[in-house]
Amino acid sequence: MTTSDNSPIKFALIETPSATSKSKIMACIFCGSTHALNTVEHIVPESLGNKSYALEKGKIYADCNNGFSKFEDIAQSKSILGYERARLAVMTKKGKPGRGKTGHLEFIGSEDFKKNYIRAAGLK
Ligand SMILES: [Zn+2]
Repeated sequence: MTTSDNSPIKFALIETPSATSKSKIMACIFCGSTHALNTVEHIVPESLGNKSYALEKGKIYADCNNGFSKFEDIAQSKSILGYERARLAVMTKKGKPGRGKTGHLEFIGSEDFKKNYIRAAGLK
């Protein structure tokens, strides 16, 4: 292909503004917010011992992450997950054994962080 003056047409890849902006805008994968994407989201709750599987900063809006944390706290402290946390000897962020409550039963993990050793309270 040539132009009318017989010089070859040169092509260059040019990024369009929309393509450029799409690739640079980061948005929360849950709500689409582009604000406060400054938290790390654990795919499996850290409170269940996960230290490895997490989404890096820039994927989750802080308010979405806080919402998940509130749900996780309730599930952790008022369901069988608390028992599992105690049984698996997961250490809390404060360095204490995991604990949870299901009905009137409270489960507390081993002070020595031995797996499968739990203390149960509330039995009468
Ligand atoms: Zn969000």
